Amino acid sequence: MNFCSQCGGPVVLKVPVDDDRPRHVCASCGAIHYQNPKLVVGCIPVWKDRILMCRRNIDPRKGCWTLPAGFLENGETAAAGARRETLEETGATVADLRPYLMVDIVHIHQIYLMFCCRLAAPDFHPTRESSEVKLFREADIPWDDIAFTVIEKTLRRYLQDRPSGRFPFRADKIEKRDLIGN
Ligand SMILES: [Zn+2]
Repeated sequence: MNFCSQCGGPVVLKVPVDDDRPRHVCASCGAIHYQNPKLVVGCIPVWKDRILMCRRNIDPRKGCWTLPAGFLENGETAAAGARRETLEETGATVADLRPYLMVDIVHIHQIYLMFCCRLAAPDFHPTRESSEVKLFREADIPWDDIAFTVIEKTLRRYLQDRPSGRFPFRADKIEKRDLIGN
């Protein structure tokens, strides 16, 4: 951040009074611009024994496969955000969302919250964000072309839990050294 979003003045990095870490502080009007982690919400949409995945039509990782997920918007619940992202990226309507996996990715300032859910109907289609949308059986999941480490982790956990039929909520984390691809 270089300029103040309130007055357009130059911004400097300094520790404000009574704070314990550097913030972007406006040198003109004194506004403190806090930056905090973003929440990414997504779904593991299931139809019978298959999982709905989408091939990214946008960077980063264009052409790789992922689960529908994206940034939560102001004014929506986490579940509503996950449902919206799934509709936007796959054209599918999902039901019975249950929080399943939270993943801290501290070095990129993100927290993922992934929901288990089912497709309301086997209706989906490519979208602006997804060049291909497809149901995968476990044996057919394109493990070598998964877009992000967090998605691979989510899928592996889900498939580990599936034989038991129980999907307890868990927390996990990804550190820089765990990353695939980029
Ligand atoms: Zn300012």
